[in-house]
Amino acid sequence: MSDSKPVIEIRNLHKSYGTLEVLKGVDITAPAGHVVSMIGSSGSGKSTLLRCCNLLEDSQQGDVIFEGEPVRWKGKGLDRRPADAKQVTRIRTNLAMVFQQFNLWAHMTILQNVMERPVTVLGRPRAEVEAKAREYLAKVGIGDKADAWPAQLSGGQQQRAAIARALCMEPRALLFDEPTSALDPELEQEVVRVIKDLAEEGRTMIIVTHDMRMAHDVADHVVFLHKGLIEEQGPPAELFGNPKSERLRQFLSHSA
Ligand code: ADP
Ligand code: MG
Repeated sequence: MSDSKPVIEIRNLHKSYGTLEVLKGVDITAPAGHVVSMIGSSGSGKSTLLRCCNLLEDSQQGDVIFEGEPVRWKGKGLDRRPADAKQVTRIRTNLAMVFQQFNLWAHMTILQNVMERPVTVLGRPRAEVEAKAREYLAKVGIGDKADAWPAQLSGGQQQRAAIARALCMEPRALLFDEPTSALDPELEQEVVRVIKDLAEEGRTMIIVTHDMRMAHDVADHVVFLHKGLIEEQGPPAELFGNPKSERLRQFLSHSA
């Protein structure tokens, strides 16, 4: 790896919604080519942390660092905001997010969904983007669905389209927020397969998931978040095989 700077680094991040402190000083690092799985109970702050990574949420204290470049802030505490809109755009377009509910645009075909942001946000030429989009659709196994509407696809196919859409931005990292939670078990596996392929390709990813098998199988590093703090973290074999914290043991026994 020529570039040793982590793609994303979060240091001592604090985030509150009004008086509710949701992140209480969290550190997380996604080195280039690594996969970080994030697990934890509902409400522990996983989605908030992902959204802080790509600046969809503001935070009150701590650092968000993209490829060695710290986000510059103005204001303090609840008034803290990113100071540089261009920096925000650069970071956000480089950290593509995949959501539980796919969020495909219903009035666009699958191909249009995948092409939309590279054309409008990045200003790439349509012909070039279309070729890439078709490539990514084929890669996730739905090359024949380019002209279909989202509603004509199964949940698993829609999520794979959403992954192709994220890939077409050619981001530096992918952020997944419970990508398989909305899917029936038999459709879940086709999405897990795609995510495993991406991990094997050496993509940098942070994956929030309730699927402990996937968290174990794809990750280089697993983080267990509990009430806005990292309770335990480590390599998957250690974290799942030999959990040290009682809270993690309990969490794992309930999600087996
Ligand atoms: P998780 O993804 O681990 O389930 P979240 O990050 O969604 O947890 O939520 C963490 C806490 O923050 C929860 O208590 C939730 O109710 C609260 N929360 C999330 N989003 C908002 C919001 N926009 N406004 C106020 N509270 C929020
Ligand atoms: Mg969540």
